[in-house]
Amino acid sequence: MVAVPIPDMPSAETVARIRAVLLDWYAVQARTLVWRTPPGVERRPDPYRVWLSEVMLQQTTTPHATPYFLAFTTRWPTVNDLAAAQDGDVMAAWAGLGYYARARNLLTCARAVASDHGGVFPDTEAALLNLPGVGAYTAAAVAAIAFGRPANVVDGNVERVMARLFAVETPLPAARPRLKALAARFVIGDQSGAEHADWPQALMDLGATVCRPKSPLCDSCPVAFGCAALATGEPGRYPLKVKKAERPHRYGIAWVLRDGQGGVALMRRPDKGLLGGMLGLPTSDWGDNPDTTPPVPADWREAGAVEHVFTHFSLTLAVHVAAGEGDFVWTAEAEALAGLPTVFRKALDRGLAG
Ligand code: SF4
Repeated sequence: MVAVPIPDMPSAETVARIRAVLLDWYAVQARTLVWRTPPGVERRPDPYRVWLSEVMLQQTTTPHATPYFLAFTTRWPTVNDLAAAQDGDVMAAWAGLGYYARARNLLTCARAVASDHGGVFPDTEAALLNLPGVGAYTAAAVAAIAFGRPANVVDGNVERVMARLFAVETPLPAARPRLKALAARFVIGDQSGAEHADWPQALMDLGATVCRPKSPLCDSCPVAFGCAALATGEPGRYPLKVKKAERPHRYGIAWVLRDGQGGVALMRRPDKGLLGGMLGLPTSDWGDNPDTTPPVPADWREAGAVEHVFTHFSLTLAVHVAAGEGDFVWTAEAEALAGLPTVFRKALDRGLAG
């Protein structure tokens, strides 16, 4: 039977050639990562470790995520251990990874696996997608990497590689469905489990180490022979992006209240909203004209300010310090410095120095 070409899509021959070359490259060049099994190995890694690594990697780089991954898997070696953990312990261990809603989702998902699936992750993409907090990307990644199933795993690296290989002129985010469809052409059903697992990781490694966001290393690229962006002479122009609106700036006050015995006042933030459920310093609201009323009357003095950038806004936080008492979560200063989310850690550091 003659294969019917799909309009606007690479031919089966192109797909097969790029796949073969990239899998060969991955067999030699795969990054060694603590949550991985090496290329070509049929024995799959523990789905708990794959899931945990993928959730962590959605918001940070591999070098930043690695110590967190090691700390989590040492303290909670199985999904059942994580499910049984105290919320506050997991939130504190997550501090510094950002996007704290993910830490809450992580716990909800671990508890669902423990209670509804007997502590065993479901092994299909569709069933994984039914777990709370598991989105399309994570379900596909766990299905492919942990269970060796064919799945279209599309992260930012894969989008970039597809946009460049096929010189997609539509800017992101509108290009997303096309990039996903292009990536899907490379997911071929009748391969071994190891190949299903290796393929998305090969694409991710190419994107992370060679087809980098800025200055791609096209001279070392195994798939340069098939790259339309390289043929244009400006591969770094892809993927095109709609210019982002400028990030707004907000102001606020962080109150560092010390008890004179090495303790500092913390408050648990409301579950909903930014840094929800995390312990933090008492603060004002964050906006153009924050409320300057301190949390308790005391002899407050200014101790400088810190800057922090969140995804949707940047923040200048004036730090005020006083000695006093009140109804707070009193925590040893050293412990607070080690466990608070970064923005509060910066402010506390400033307050203790000032
Ligand atoms: Fe990326 Fe360059 Fe390779 Fe094209 S040739 S896929 S732009 S590294």
